[in-house]
Amino acid sequence: MNKLDTALVTSALKEAGFSLTESLKEADVVLINTCSVRQHAEQRVLSHLGHLKHIKENKPDLIVGVIGCMAQRLGDKLLEHKAVNIVCGPTQIPQIADLLKQAFEKNEKRLAVTEKILKKTSENQNQTLERFESAYGIEDKQIPSQAYVRAMRGCNNFCTYCIVPYVRGPEVCRPPEAIIEQIKRLASEGIKQVTLLGQTVNYYKYNKGEKTYCLADLLDAAGNIEGIEWLKFVTNYPSEEFFDEIMQVMAASPKVCNYLHLPAQSGSDKILLAMNRHYSAAWYLELLAKARAVVPGIAIAGDFIVGFPGETEDDFQATAELLKKARYRNSFIFKYSPRPGTTADKRLEDTVPADVKQKRIAELLAAQEKISDQLSRAFLGKDVKVLVEGLSKKSHRNIAGSPDKPQLVARTATDYIVVFNGPMSLAGQFAKVKIIKTSPLTLFGELI
Ligand code: SAM
Ligand code: SF4
Repeated sequence: MNKLDTALVTSALKEAGFSLTESLKEADVVLINTCSVRQHAEQRVLSHLGHLKHIKENKPDLIVGVIGCMAQRLGDKLLEHKAVNIVCGPTQIPQIADLLKQAFEKNEKRLAVTEKILKKTSENQNQTLERFESAYGIEDKQIPSQAYVRAMRGCNNFCTYCIVPYVRGPEVCRPPEAIIEQIKRLASEGIKQVTLLGQTVNYYKYNKGEKTYCLADLLDAAGNIEGIEWLKFVTNYPSEEFFDEIMQVMAASPKVCNYLHLPAQSGSDKILLAMNRHYSAAWYLELLAKARAVVPGIAIAGDFIVGFPGETEDDFQATAELLKKARYRNSFIFKYSPRPGTTADKRLEDTVPADVKQKRIAELLAAQEKISDQLSRAFLGKDVKVLVEGLSKKSHRNIAGSPDKPQLVARTATDYIVVFNGPMSLAGQFAKVKIIKTSPLTLFGELI
């Protein structure tokens, strides 16, 4: 979601006459796009701002803007920071070019956030966001041929630990025709893979006349667009509504990748209830079984929070058990981080000590690594189709590669990372690779 916002802002600012620089020395403006989901992310932003404060001592005209969730959460408190000139929430990003111009011309601090974020967004606001979203190119230039497209904004779920509804506001689904038009335009610009985004993307629902459009309808329509080869969607909330339809379209359409990110968060029913997640561990595992029955070979990824208030060793073991039964391709595992204003933070004490959280995260990561390793090994000797992203981060260390065949990184339809040597001209293209070595998170191959 944040990558998409960064791409939209970059593209809007380019159109307003700004150009992007990698060098802080050259920059007239520094914008930091922020996330509030865990405290650690906010701390990193504060440490960047500390650094920028020093830089501004020698470069007082430098404009520093903080955009995104942390801007919405902290608002005027953040504007008080010596380094900061602009604070702009996620709903206000269409105003970013104007805010910058005002900051340049008037040399004043500017605040643009939503006062009552939990209130339904007005039609006016929705239209402004919609215009902004569809007006700008959103390709992720870091990864050629791929783009993110937002299906919905915000979230209505209020999981007790989560800050998202308080910084992104209530759920709003974009009109299906706007989404499809955008994908058509991206396809005409050479985009081959589109990832539809939403905090609960499987909840996507849009009433138009007699018909209710759901995510399966979007995937179906997007699959018919010439040039689009792979469709992915993240993130899903475990729910029965539309689940069958989504799995059916995944099974039927060669374009919809067999990959499902379906966070469980915990394997303890007591903790799930305290998290305000509306399912039990057994029901969740049944849902996975259903997905696997309709789409054999589907790769499933999960999220977990360890050390939620009140999590006992038994609760944690229930989580470890669920993770093992689920046989995820990979899991994103986090230590509980109390977020100000959330129900968990207001009502529950952060009871699990830091060292216990650390031990639990390590145990869960080790269990996942074992499963990921087994699943990866099944690829040995197999040929896989991949979409090439570009140079691998470690390409400079790869002595096997010759200058015209550096180490490239790519992904399979099921989101496995594949590393192999090949010409840079493959970036943004599909390729066939034979897997010759595996590790838990990476497959190593040879170009066929
Ligand atoms: N909407 C998605 C969902 O329902 O699963 C994910 C949203 S959140 C941005 C991404 C992940 O961050 C969550 O799945 C959760 O595991 C983790 N997360 C959210 N709030 C957290 C908190 N307060 N402490 C630790 N992890 C958290
Ligand atoms: Fe946060 Fe829950 Fe909404 Fe996901 S579903 S964004 S975890 S409140």
